[in-house]
Amino acid sequence: MTSRTLPDHDHLQHTHSHAAHPHSVAYQLLEAIRHCEQRGTRLTPIRQHVLTLLLEAGRSLKAYELLEAMKQLYPQAKPPTVYRALDFLVEEGLIHRLDAVNAWTACQDVSGHHHDLLVVCTCCGKVAELSAPLISHQLQDMIQAAGFVQTTSETELRAICIDCSNKQEQTTP
Ligand SMILES: [Zn+2]
Ligand SMILES: [Zn+2]
Repeated sequence: MTSRTLPDHDHLQHTHSHAAHPHSVAYQLLEAIRHCEQRGTRLTPIRQHVLTLLLEAGRSLKAYELLEAMKQLYPQAKPPTVYRALDFLVEEGLIHRLDAVNAWTACQDVSGHHHDLLVVCTCCGKVAELSAPLISHQLQDMIQAAGFVQTTSETELRAICIDCSNKQEQTTP
């Protein structure tokens, strides 16, 4: 790759040479804003704050945890404030709702590769986003054969992460 300066119209492409680190919260937030602009929606300050909290947490958060954190910034924040923002962020594909732990997690790969499996640690709420198109197609066929229509694009799997598994072993006599 050459070090020539890129023309302006390349800024919207994946040439983030001057932007923040690809995995930093600042970068992911910029990606989210761009994502919404492209879809004609708007990441309002409240929605942005909820997303930032999830990105900074690095794990899934429950509604009450988000509400408490939001109250630091918006003292009048009520549960619907948080739930409305969460609904929007799920709709935009920026976060995932996790039924396994009744919580929400920031999508780690909004503009990148498609993922269809979410492995959730039921102990600490850590999430891994995996791509398994073959398995997903098989699953979809089986669900259809059983007379159902799949309503979510991701399959959630309950598991325990290695860290939590090791901790449990240590505390078990
Ligand atoms: Zn995701
Ligand atoms: Zn864990």
